[in-house]
Parts: sequence; structure tokens; C-alpha cells
Amino acid sequence: MVATNMKKQKHTYNPYENFLTTMNNAASLLKLDESDYITFKYPERELKVSFPVKMDDGSLRVFEGYRVQHSSVRGPFKGGIRFHQDVNMDEVKALAAWMTFKCAVVGIPYGGAKGAVTVDPTNFSETEIERLTRRYVTAIAPLIGPDQDIPAPDVNTNGKIMGWIMDTFSMLRGRAVPGVVTGKPVEIGGSLGRPEATGRGVSIITQELLKILGKNASDMKVAVQGMGNVGSVAAKLLDAAGCKVVAVSDVSGGIYNQARLDIPRIIRFLDNKKHLLKDYMEDGVQFISNHELLLCDADILIPAALENQITEEIAKEIRAKIVVEAANGPTTVEADSIMEGRGVTVIPDILANAGGVVVSYFEWVQNIQSLMWNELQVNNMLHDIMVTAFQNVVQKVRDSNISYRSAAYIIALEKLASAKRIRGVYL
Ligand code: GLU
Repeated sequence: MVATNMKKQKHTYNPYENFLTTMNNAASLLKLDESDYITFKYPERELKVSFPVKMDDGSLRVFEGYRVQHSSVRGPFKGGIRFHQDVNMDEVKALAAWMTFKCAVVGIPYGGAKGAVTVDPTNFSETEIERLTRRYVTAIAPLIGPDQDIPAPDVNTNGKIMGWIMDTFSMLRGRAVPGVVTGKPVEIGGSLGRPEATGRGVSIITQELLKILGKNASDMKVAVQGMGNVGSVAAKLLDAAGCKVVAVSDVSGGIYNQARLDIPRIIRFLDNKKHLLKDYMEDGVQFISNHELLLCDADILIPAALENQITEEIAKEIRAKIVVEAANGPTTVEADSIMEGRGVTVIPDILANAGGVVVSYFEWVQNIQSLMWNELQVNNMLHDIMVTAFQNVVQKVRDSNISYRSAAYIIALEKLASAKRIRGVYL
């Protein structure tokens, strides 16, 4: 009882409520009849599982996991799997719903899903994580498959883990099923360009925005919260495009250099997975907290970590005039309207970080047709899809004088409502 209450207090911010408020706002701007979008208020399926895992010392531990399938109206369910100690059902539901809207806004033929295991993977050995992954996949196996629901990497999961997922599912089926998961190593059907795709998409969108605002990359100071797979690639590509990346952070805190950080050097340092930014040394570097990073003197802020980072408190003081949401759900609804009032341009997660699922789609298409594309082809197609989606959103922003978030949600909701209308209601 005490534990439950503590958990409730810790999770007063409810990401699924955040999603519902944003969707309802878009529906009222669109003047949609409730019957056109009521189904999107409820995930189609929510699975909670628990499973035992043998630890290296011979003891047994039970872990809990989730797979939420939000909508299959536009196609099979699609979405990543995260390993994190704080996950709960409302978070996974929100992440699944955001996948539905993300796939719709960029126009790829998927619905939305998300999975998670409540675990801090840094506390376990690689062999323990492998056994945990295989048992989790076995537990959710009735729901997944290449024409049903296709997982992918997310926070704290990677290509190696996707490889174990592919292998476990294939063993259960008795044949190789590469299309059951995306973000796999290329040796077993992964796509070239997939590991960098989310960060590349963030960089493409940021540069397109600078073009329409008439700004030069070289005049832009950038702060990136989170140097995981997404943040580090976005930082690398924006640095290469001429932006001055002045601040980056990881779980250990942030580093700041008002002139410019040496991003390639920082990435080489972090390539050693044991290294944390708190131990990084470079002339002119100042150590800052994650809070200070969000409020630092930058033109562009890229939150690339977890949800609920840009709160009301941060929004009131933020100095950046542009926020590009590389993470899923980094901004609360309240913070969003404060930033809108202060003239901050926010590019929403469902558009900004869609590059990952776009290249997941390319990977899946290659798998189910046994094709192999080169990296240039993949990157060019990613570029085209991201730029087209961005231009559609910009057009809506201009036509209706609304925020980028409202515009992206309206575009997605129009597609979802129309797919639902065409399909009708079974029985
Ligand atoms: N986890 C990523 C996301 O949130 C990628 C999902 C996918 O590729 O299916 O968009």
C-alpha cells in the first residue's frame, strides 16, 4: 500500500493525459465529430506480463513488462521497446499512441504500439539482459509478428537486443522471420542507415526549419539534452552542418562551452560505453546540471532524453527560441502553451523524431520482399519523406495560424479519422 502511494506521487504527471489533451485540442480545431476519433482515445490492446529470469548467480527474479497496441487502423502496429526502471502502463500507452500519430503524420502505413520492461539494464550483465529479452519476447509473442506488430529499439535497447528478439521469435516459429523486428544488425536483415535514422531526421527537420526562418546554421547555438543514439547523431550532424553545439548532457550531467564543443571528440569519448560526460576533459568546458542545460544560452534546444523534461518552470525561463523534440513527449501540455505564448517555435516529437520509424519501415519493406538497399538510397528516401512531412505541417501552420504541434496532430488525425471512416465499424 505504501509502495503504491509512493508510486502514485512520483507519477502525478500522466503522459497519456498529455496525449489525450493534445489530441482533443486538434479534434476541436478540426471540428471533428466525436464519433470520428473516439476510438483513438482507447488503445486497442494492453498486455501486461511477468516472467522469471535466471540471474548469473543462479537466483531467480521476476520482471514485469508491457506491450500496448494503440491503433491498427492505418496498418500493422509498430513501435519500440524500452528498458527502464520507471516505466508504467500510462507511459507505455502514451508512447504507443504517439507512434500512431507519428506514422500518420509522415504517411507510412502503420498503426502504433510500444513495449517496455521495468528494469534498469545498467544493474545487470549482458547475459542476464539476453535472457530477460528472450523471456519478454516469449511472453508477448502471441501479439507480435511481421504482419501484426513489429517492435524496434527505444530507450536503453539497441541492435544487439533486436537481434535476440529476431532469434527468439524465429525459434518459436521454426524458421527465420527477419520482418518481426526492425533496428536489427545488418547481418540478419537490418537496414543500412537505421542506427542513425532518428538523429538524422532530427537534423533534417532542424535544417528545414532554419531555411524557412531565414537563419544560418553557423549563427545557431544548439543545446542537446541526452547523448544516446538519437542525441549524439543529431549533435554530430548539426555540428557538421555548421551549427555551434554549445551544451550536451547525459545521465551524469551536462557540459557547456559558450564558444563551441568539440562534438566529434565527445562522441569518440562516449563510444567507450563506460565513459560518462562528468569525466570528460576539454579546455573551456564548464560542468552544468541537466536543469541548467535546458535553460542555457542557446538558440535551439533539442531534448533527446525522456518525457516530462520541459515543465512549466522550465518553459517560463527557457532562452532558446526553437525547441526540436527528439525525445518522445519531452514537453508537458502546460509548458507547451507557455512556450507558445512566449513565441518559442516547438517542432513536436511526432514529426521531429519520426526518422527512426521511417527507416524501420524501409527495413521491414526490405525484409518482407527480400530486398537490399544501399545507405545512400535509404538516406535519400528518408530525406524526401521528412521534408515532405515538414512542408505539409508548415503549410497547415500558415493556413490556420496554429502551432506546429497542433498542425502535426491535425494532419495525423485527419488521416486516422478518414481511415476509420473508410473501414467502418465491424458488426
Ligand atoms: N522507438 C522509436 C520511436 O519512438 C522507433 C520506433 C520504430 O522504429 O518502430 O519512434
